[in-house]
Formats: sequence, structure tokens, C-alpha cells
Amino acid sequence: MLKEYFNDFLALFFPELCGACAKNLFKGEVEICTSCIYKLPLTAHHNDPNNKVARQFWGRISFFQAGAYLHFKKGGRVQALLHQIKYRKREQLGVRLGELYGYELSQSANFIKPDLIIPVPLHPKKLKMRGYNQSEAIAKGLSKVLQVDLSNTHLIRNLHTESQTKKNRFSRYENMQEAFSIHRPGELQGKHILLIDDVITTGSTLEACALCLQEKVEIKLSLAALAYAD
Ligand SMILES: [Zn+2]
Repeated sequence: MLKEYFNDFLALFFPELCGACAKNLFKGEVEICTSCIYKLPLTAHHNDPNNKVARQFWGRISFFQAGAYLHFKKGGRVQALLHQIKYRKREQLGVRLGELYGYELSQSANFIKPDLIIPVPLHPKKLKMRGYNQSEAIAKGLSKVLQVDLSNTHLIRNLHTESQTKKNRFSRYENMQEAFSIHRPGELQGKHILLIDDVITTGSTLEACALCLQEKVEIKLSLAALAYAD
């Protein structure tokens, strides 16, 4: 009770803002306002096995389900949200959007729950700078709502490699695969794993994680991201 008064008092001076439209949040709204939730550009990918994300990975990796929650457009609401999550220290906004995605998925008869959720790991240097992994924040929200365990210790981003833009496409791709390694693969054997990224553009990061996992263990693999750049 006292904490609630204190929070109301704080809110007078430091009002919490919606991560999409930057307007003050009302009581009961968490990280994003009701109006912006209503206007989110949903893809409904989970209801379409031939969706654009799935098609993007066809022939590159073998997977069970793939999709993204929102359409990403330059200058749009979703770009604003991703910017807040990645560069404005709004980890909880990532968790909140992961929760909303989780509600959406849990209401779909087509979505098959995984056994384990694994976020795309962040490079240790970036993790130190940002203080958290934005993909893990999204994964946390999904994990909470879907009631599926999350692991950030099985798929690891290696220290020594970092994207090198000057390299040609082929060696960049090889470099990407070397960027990840698997710890305790035996614990993953036979599981249905859902890999989570923040946004899918070329899909090369998810592809590299998937290939790294599938090289070491036999798993059923699904892929999801908060947003997809058409
Ligand atoms: Zn808003």
C-alpha cells in the first residue's frame, strides 16, 4: 500500500511513458499504452505455416515453426519500440512485448508449445555496454506467459568473433557460424527448442544459431522474433 502511494508520488515527477508513442501511461498500463497495443501491426504468422518468415528460412535450415509477432516498417511504431528496447535501456518494455506475443501464441490452436526457449545471445562486449540482452528480455516475457523454461547458458556467443563488414559474403557467413557455441548439448537432445531474436531482417543470425545447434544435437527447432522487416 505504502509502496503504491510512493509509486504514484514518483509518477508525478517521473511519469512513465509509452514505448511507442511516448505519451504518459495510465495506471494499469505497463510499458506500452492501450491505444498503441490496439494499433500494433500483427502478422498472425503463427496461423500460417507458409508465412514470410518461414519462407525466408526454407532451404537454409530445417525447422518446425517460424514466425514474427509484428511487421517492422521504417519510421513506424515497431521501430520506435525496438529502438527503446535496444538503445534506451527499456528492458522491461522487451519483457512486456514478449508477454503480449505469448498471449497471442497461447490463444492459437496452431502454435505448438516448445520445451525450451533460447534467446539469441548477445556479444559479451555489447552485453556489458547495454546491461541486458534485448532478445532475452523478449524471451522472458514469452517464457512467463507460455510457462516454458528459458535458457541463456546453452547457446553462447564467443568472445573472439565480431561481424567484419569488409569481408566478402561467404567468409562473413563462416564467421557468423563460428560466433556461437553450445554448452551441455546432452541436455538439449530430443527437445523442441524455440529460438528468439528481436528482429529478423536477413535471418543470418538465427540461421547461424540454428546450424550451430543442429550440428551438435538432434532437436526440433522453431524460430520466432518480435518483428519482421518485410
Ligand atoms: Zn502509446
